[in-house]
Amino acid sequence: MRKLFFVFLFSIPALLSAQRTLLHCGRLIDVKNGSVLTEQTILVEGNKISDIQKGYVAGTSSDIVIDLKRSTVMPGLIDCHVHMEHETNPNRYLEAFTLNPADYAFQSVVFSNRTLMAGFTSVRDLGGSGVNIALRNAINKNLIVGPRVFTAGKSIATTGGHADPTNGYRKDLQGDPGPSAGVANGPDECRKAVRQRYKDGSDLIKITASGGVLSVAKSGENPQFTEDEIKAIVETAKDYGFKVAAHCHGAEAMKRAVRGGVNSIEHGTYMDDEVIALMKQHGTYLVATIIAGKSVADSAKKTGYYPELVTPKALAIGPKMQNMFAKAYREGVKIAFGTDAGVYAHGKNWMEFVYMNEAGMPVIKAIQSATVSAADLLGVSDQLGSIEKGKLADIIAVDGDPERDAKVMGKVNFVMKDGVVYKK
Ligand SMILES: [Zn+2]
Repeated sequence: MRKLFFVFLFSIPALLSAQRTLLHCGRLIDVKNGSVLTEQTILVEGNKISDIQKGYVAGTSSDIVIDLKRSTVMPGLIDCHVHMEHETNPNRYLEAFTLNPADYAFQSVVFSNRTLMAGFTSVRDLGGSGVNIALRNAINKNLIVGPRVFTAGKSIATTGGHADPTNGYRKDLQGDPGPSAGVANGPDECRKAVRQRYKDGSDLIKITASGGVLSVAKSGENPQFTEDEIKAIVETAKDYGFKVAAHCHGAEAMKRAVRGGVNSIEHGTYMDDEVIALMKQHGTYLVATIIAGKSVADSAKKTGYYPELVTPKALAIGPKMQNMFAKAYREGVKIAFGTDAGVYAHGKNWMEFVYMNEAGMPVIKAIQSATVSAADLLGVSDQLGSIEKGKLADIIAVDGDPERDAKVMGKVNFVMKDGVVYKK
């Protein structure tokens, strides 16, 4: 009996702590330096990276060895702009009246799985009904498989603005939604809307500072918050440790948002020289979502895909985004990777790398925007965004060399999140 106790108290924990996973990496992207190392071994213990060593370390008989000698290994990718609750389809506008929260929840499980298998181990969810908060919690509890979710919960809009949830409804169904539903007018309501997000359990704040493409409203670019309102939001957000992401297509909205202190401009379509200068001055990130622009422009060509008010906006705004990105990148605006997944089909997030590359950004820099820079924007650089000793073991690999062909980013053949292998 005493001997048995000894075995249970000492031997098993000792064995567990000795279990290591060794990744033999043919090519390993050092995202901090923007360089590629060859023939490296990453050692993973528990959910952390315990070391990186030159050469292919043999390990002991209790180690698990994974052969990625023919692959390019990099940190888990981070998409800074997704919507995990839904996905584009021609019935999308009807779904507001036909789907229940449980329906959104079940479909988000599928989209989360697809996103993780595409190599995105973290996402920033920039707006949904609040199901996105429950989704984050379910993934964190390991009830379902998905990326780490940093969620805004419900976006904050002004009355009739992009993300007013009742836009386009008939009058008796519209009501007058307020701060708790994410609609705020005036600095006081803006503060209340931020505090409500804290109560809901959001991780960050998303505002819709200009009109948008897919809302049933006339303008896709008009400014929709005053600078005072934006300042009230940013100031209150800071009290709760929230960063603020601002959806903007129009230049005036971007100027107000950047001066108001937001951390990122989402989309940025009509960015002008003054906006570029302001963003550089304030260190504001651009999250360009080129793929969303291309996707909405394509869908708008199909008759009846979008409501009448939406189609012309999609055709006008969508195709401009790649050129805007090219200019912003050339001019030195800080870039964080983001795609607006949900506006196009989840799992195709990697295509943004191809579009960024077409616009003049080397693939390695695009990968940096989806790792180190994205982690910086999220405020989690101490734990995520690079493969370094002590960081969380979020690691992926692609089959081939993405520096030769950006499309290789679509060939993810290995996914580890939090030290657990999900794909190999
Ligand atoms: Zn979006």
